[in-house]
Amino acid sequence: MTGGAGFIGANLCRELISRRSVGRVVALDDLSTGAAANLAGTGAELVEGSILDRDLLEDVVDGADAVVHLAARPSVPRSLADPFATHEVNATGTVRVLEACRRHHTQLVAASSSSVYGSVTALPKHEGLPTRPLSPYAASKLATESYVLSYGHAFGLPALAFRFFNVYGPLQPAGHAYAAVVPSFVDAALRGRPLTVFGDGHQTRDFTYVGTVARVLADAVLRKVTCADPVNLAFGTRVSVLELGHHLAKALETAVEFHHEPSRRGDVRDSQADDGLLRGLFAGVEAVPLEQGLAETVRWFRSL
Ligand code: NAD
Repeated sequence: MTGGAGFIGANLCRELISRRSVGRVVALDDLSTGAAANLAGTGAELVEGSILDRDLLEDVVDGADAVVHLAARPSVPRSLADPFATHEVNATGTVRVLEACRRHHTQLVAASSSSVYGSVTALPKHEGLPTRPLSPYAASKLATESYVLSYGHAFGLPALAFRFFNVYGPLQPAGHAYAAVVPSFVDAALRGRPLTVFGDGHQTRDFTYVGTVARVLADAVLRKVTCADPVNLAFGTRVSVLELGHHLAKALETAVEFHHEPSRRGDVRDSQADDGLLRGLFAGVEAVPLEQGLAETVRWFRSL
């Protein structure tokens, strides 16, 4: 796995190791946003280094049954601050991972993002819609999924590209400038501080609990699922940022206050997945409901 010491990666390591049929799980990570501590007690092996290092990738992919490619610079604001760095890791890095998989004919499951839909206003977003990235990050994730699917077509590589929507849950960090909305809200609420909202708060998101994402990724690897098109990995629940704050207030049995900042460049207005393709490929998949996922997230924050 690339990016295995990150938020989604470390949750996936736990999920994979809980499955009986899985032997070794190796996490290649440069620890730029991930942390070795995320893997503590999982049984996964950490190989510290970059996906841009061809020789290291070769060593890691050699002998692997499958690669889950999660390594990326995963933030819209960071991509606005340094577009080239985002391109290098997310686009060039993906080609490096693909080349290693091609040499060994190793199955690849990769992370793209709902941000590729960008300014497309239709809801819910289905995979047949055009893509109109609003940020260098979104463009780089479009490159990620395009390269992955092109290797499926051109070289017969068993490949699958998921478009994650807003994933949240334990191990997602708060307290830094690029933190995602769920951990920022939980952290602020637990400290009795106002929740910072960019814009009016009526922008909507399709929040997906990380445990659900990890289960789908593990199933994809173990069942060797492939698809010629990108696949949304979310379940069509559309919640505004203000509603998210109210759900959290309920989970904490406390009142919350909002503090509004100007909207951020590159952020999309509304997001909601069409989950038809996902449900066709993963029959019977169940999503953890937002209330339950938030309760798990709060429990994790309180344990820190
Ligand atoms: P994360 O920052 O926790 O994980 C990314 C990991 O990649 C980190 O551990 C980081 O150290 C590692 N990494 C970065 N550059 C690397 C490099 N050059 N070589 C090796 N490792 C490197 O973020 P996450 O939320 O776990 O995201 C995982 C993937 O999911 C990313 O590809 C991201 O674009 C995608 N995604 C996430 C979300 C979300 O809501 N969290 C939404 C859409 C897409």
